[in-house]
Amino acid sequence: MKCVGCKGEAEIKILQPFCKECFKKHYLRRVKRLIQKFNMIEKKDKIVVAVSGGKDSLACAQALYSLGFEISVLHIDVGIKECWSPKAKEVTEKFCKEKNIPFYFASFEEFFDIDAKKFFEASRRPICATCGMLKRALFNKFARENNFNKIATGHCADDVAKYFFKSIVASTEESFFWLSKLKPITPSTHKKIVTRIRPILEMLEVENLAFSKFNNINVAGCVMCSYFQRKDKITEILRKIDEKFPDFKIKVVKMLEKINFESEKEIQECEICGEPTKNKICTICKIKKRIEK
Ligand SMILES: [Zn+2]
Ligand SMILES: [Zn+2]
Repeated sequence: MKCVGCKGEAEIKILQPFCKECFKKHYLRRVKRLIQKFNMIEKKDKIVVAVSGGKDSLACAQALYSLGFEISVLHIDVGIKECWSPKAKEVTEKFCKEKNIPFYFASFEEFFDIDAKKFFEASRRPICATCGMLKRALFNKFARENNFNKIATGHCADDVAKYFFKSIVASTEESFFWLSKLKPITPSTHKKIVTRIRPILEMLEVENLAFSKFNNINVAGCVMCSYFQRKDKITEILRKIDEKFPDFKIKVVKMLEKINFESEKEIQECEICGEPTKNKICTICKIKKRIEK
């Protein structure tokens, strides 16, 4: 198997065969192209990258770093053992130290003044949904209070394809609303909301894993969300599609990039905590009240 770049011996074949160096170049070229296409980053931007310690968010931070952007990293202890381990913090901190990237750390429990276990129980939602909701709120508040004007996350084509199918299966107003968020950039719609960018949205999870490996990055995977262990129906279907159309997930991302969605519900400020929300009281305060009862 020959590398399509240099014709030397290829080390992996994802969509095409590549050697290590050509793969890294190919990966960075695609990320750079997406950043430029959506005008994601401007010179004066202060960017914080949300890094869980998994392959995707670390690949995102590495790509931005390799492309010469100035970044900081925020890592969160989500407070439940299913989604976080000290190893996740360790690998993230080490990654930052090696590259001289400012490292920030926050925990759900301290940041929101909650007992994580009780909060997750009272939320009456799947763990990953609650975790995602808390993460979004924390990233936003943290970025705003620390003068960052862009939040970068490691969402990739696999996430988009999965949400896409899930939204169709769920067919609720809320699920369709989420589809509109699956674009490379979500500009701020309220003075308290920080713009989000997703520089590796067109990349596949397997590519993020290879990119991390080829850059000698240690990763700590989430036990529940690991690509190789997920057994939900949608993932099974996507695996079948992969066999016939290896670039299908990337095509889903590109399709959603082109769709214009109806404008969403107006953003207001939560009556209790003042954070942006679509309702009178935000979900986090609602769940906290439920616990107090
Ligand atoms: Zn090569
Ligand atoms: Zn609130």
